[in-house]
Amino acid sequence: MSRQLKVAVIGAGPAGLISARELQREGHQVVVFEKSDRIGGTWVYTPEVETDPLGLDPDREIVHSSIYYSLRTNLPRHAMGFSDYPFTIRHETGELRDFPGHQEVLEFLNQFVRDFGLMELIRLNHEVVRVEKEDDLWVVESRLSDKSCSEELFEAVVVCNGHYTQPRLAEDIPGVEFWPGKQIHSHNYRVPDPFQDKVVVLIGAGPSAHDICHDIAQVAKEVHLSSRSPEVKVSKLDFFNNVWQHQEIAYCHENGEVAFKDGASVAADIILHCTGYKYQFPFLKTKGIVTIDDNRVGPLYKHVFPPQNAPGLSFVGLPHRVVVFLMLELQAKWVAFALSGKAILPSKEEMLADVEEHYRLMEQDGVPKCYTQRLPVDAFVYLDWLAAQTGYTVNEQTKVVYYALIKYVSGLLWFGSFKDVDMESLLK
Ligand code: FAD
Repeated sequence: MSRQLKVAVIGAGPAGLISARELQREGHQVVVFEKSDRIGGTWVYTPEVETDPLGLDPDREIVHSSIYYSLRTNLPRHAMGFSDYPFTIRHETGELRDFPGHQEVLEFLNQFVRDFGLMELIRLNHEVVRVEKEDDLWVVESRLSDKSCSEELFEAVVVCNGHYTQPRLAEDIPGVEFWPGKQIHSHNYRVPDPFQDKVVVLIGAGPSAHDICHDIAQVAKEVHLSSRSPEVKVSKLDFFNNVWQHQEIAYCHENGEVAFKDGASVAADIILHCTGYKYQFPFLKTKGIVTIDDNRVGPLYKHVFPPQNAPGLSFVGLPHRVVVFLMLELQAKWVAFALSGKAILPSKEEMLADVEEHYRLMEQDGVPKCYTQRLPVDAFVYLDWLAAQTGYTVNEQTKVVYYALIKYVSGLLWFGSFKDVDMESLLK
């Protein structure tokens, strides 16, 4: 017999939207709480930035999205949709590129909501401020824009609050506290104009670091990329005339100098931290059942269920370095099936043992704790496993597209340049 539960979903970004759809499909009664006044999460671009450019002030007004004006997806549209709702070319936006701009992703999500009638499940301007288990139910307390609060009981909660909002900074840079220049985290980067004629040190080596480097190199006097890789030799990059690569920062001096471990140093105006984000669930009161330790969220069985509270509490969207939308869909299907009783979870002890084994293997391979939610390069092992829990199989074409892209990109530095490749020609 299938169970149909009253389920709260926190967040109306891609994870919350696909969760709402999968839960509804399974017959659950769904309420989606969204703190902002629109759906789309990260994909809602705003020119606004926070008052503290490093995100350290706990009292600052939070801006959720971290996307910049020029952002184009780093996966082709072929790998950005859901299994029965592909991300096809949207002629109404005039967009034809394989790696579309952020505007088109938002339009895709809005269309998804319209086509599946999800809007009636969503409560906009409802920020969840407390989720707590009381007996067998979950209390969800939400706050409206007028600051009034209300509580409601649910049989299950799916957490989809996103994890690209709270900056993570490069730690232990000697002397940085006395360095007189400006520091900013990529969360607060929107357009290159403020970098006009500046000497910029950009810390990081991920997709955002490369995109933003490409953006600001057009206007800055010099850009010095600093990454942790010890193999990097100080060098000027070929396709720019003002970008250099360096090792980690060795120290910052109060006279404005920034010195690198490779021996070079520059008189810099700005340090731009493209150093990632921290998980946070400020509303979650689990009395220690789910913790964040050095950015490890755990214990979570397969990154979704805390064994002590499964299946009543679940998380959709935590792993990264993956085909995101596909993973969100597969996790959401699994949660919906686990709640209805169609997917049977192992015992609490077995789930905990599985998590412990995951941690043990990470330690054995020397993987730092903070990468617990980062999937291995072959993320399809995880995606295939997830799919199998609901009797689904991952579309082979998605894998073909993904592997073709990885192969193509692995020979390149990112720098946005791969986004002009024609995927059809890569697939031939
Ligand atoms: P989000 O999109 O962050 O949505 C979370 C939602 O929860 C938001 O609407 C927020 O307002 C709401 N919320 C948060 N707290 C509360 C609360 N307490 N109460 C109520 N509501 C709350 N992915 C790709 O697939 N392709 C890409 O090319 C790509 N590029 C990216 C580039 C950048 C710079 C960044 C930062 C991310 C990128 N991503 C990309 C990842 C992207 O985050 C995911 O595509 C997707 O947005 C994750 O969805 P989500 O719903 O988990 O989180």
